[in-house]
Amino acid sequence: MALIVQKYGGSSVADAAAIKRVAQRIVAQKKAGYDVVVAVSAMGDSTDELLDLAEQVAPLPPGRELDMLLTSGERISMALVAMAIGNLGYEARSFTGSQAGVITTSLHGNAKIIDVTPGRIREALDDGAIAIVAGFQGVSQDSKDITTLGRGGTDTTAVALAAALDADACEIYTDVDGVFTADPRIVPTARRIPEISNEEMLEMAACGAKILHLRCVEYARRYNIPIHVRSSFSQKPGTWVLPHVEESEGMEQPIISGVAHDRSEAKITVVGVPDQVGEAAAIFRTLAEAEINIDMIVQNVSAAGTARTDISFTLPTSHGQIALAALKKIQEQVGFTSLLYNDRIGKVSLVGAGMRSYPGVTARFFDSIAGAGVNIEMISTSEIRISVVVAEEEVDAAVGAAHTEFQLDADQVEAVVYGGTGR
Ligand code: ASP
Ligand code: MG
Repeated sequence: MALIVQKYGGSSVADAAAIKRVAQRIVAQKKAGYDVVVAVSAMGDSTDELLDLAEQVAPLPPGRELDMLLTSGERISMALVAMAIGNLGYEARSFTGSQAGVITTSLHGNAKIIDVTPGRIREALDDGAIAIVAGFQGVSQDSKDITTLGRGGTDTTAVALAAALDADACEIYTDVDGVFTADPRIVPTARRIPEISNEEMLEMAACGAKILHLRCVEYARRYNIPIHVRSSFSQKPGTWVLPHVEESEGMEQPIISGVAHDRSEAKITVVGVPDQVGEAAAIFRTLAEAEINIDMIVQNVSAAGTARTDISFTLPTSHGQIALAALKKIQEQVGFTSLLYNDRIGKVSLVGAGMRSYPGVTARFFDSIAGAGVNIEMISTSEIRISVVVAEEEVDAAVGAAHTEFQLDADQVEAVVYGGTGR
């Protein structure tokens, strides 16, 4: 029998009415003759509420306890969804991540899936039941403690289950009708992308498109799983994220697939670094030892005669204070003058496999941003992406300008935001 894995995000299970609606969708698939496995997120914003609660009792809660707390959100929704399905006359069994066999590394808050051993899920399916799995969580192979996969991790749970169960498809239900050429919350005329390659989706997700969890896309790529992103609030066709998007005959793929943005990064500038061999290495070794993820790096040419240079880089805002503390410790040894910190920045990225074979994309991108009166602070590129850092309050203008420049605007507004905040 064909097997489908479905994922429902927080806004799709936000309250009792939403849960009943989702139960109906799940039962419809079952009635259509499929085996169904469902990964669910916590209801609405309850993960954020749990985080707030934790901060009120302890400013820096230990990772083990925080994961225990946060995973309870998904346990609530999995049981309620199972009950709602039962109420429709179908059997459903809920499982925690650990019960579903999601085995992870032991890094609390950002554990990686090592293996999935879904014996109990198979048993449930063999008994004719629908399996409901708590998303975003697993159990550490070493410590046996409960772990979480990072914010938005339920997408990854779904794809990992699809891979382990050899599912025919993985459907990710969210609060917009698929992947759009830009976040419809910023660009109302954004267009739905019917099909996008996994490679481009990976760049979009890495550049802040919150529609899919980055690790979920990586996982799907590794195991060749097609993902169907759809809204749980409509019957619209959504977006297929595919290992390869065939160029339909006589029709060229657009040069640019979309414009992504990210406001979650900050910029640190190390001022007055002596321009000598090994200084950059010392700085970035220190940051690596503090387990800080660096994104863009720019080294400014030293002013004539000073023999000093400035090095700027971006990193997640959440790592900002740790990075500053680590760098202060080596200030004397490296001999730099000072540190500047700015978390009021944003990153705007243009993504498209077509830019490989089209010259001039960069110039057009920068022209459009200049046309919007926005100053570019940093630049980085990959083969299929160009990213710039701009002031945070100018992100919307830059996204809109690039979107228009590459003719991505739809003639009429087709994007509907049904709820939620972008997850
Ligand atoms: N509930 C978790 C979060 O809000 C996981 C998820 O939604 O995928 O990040
Ligand atoms: Mg959520």
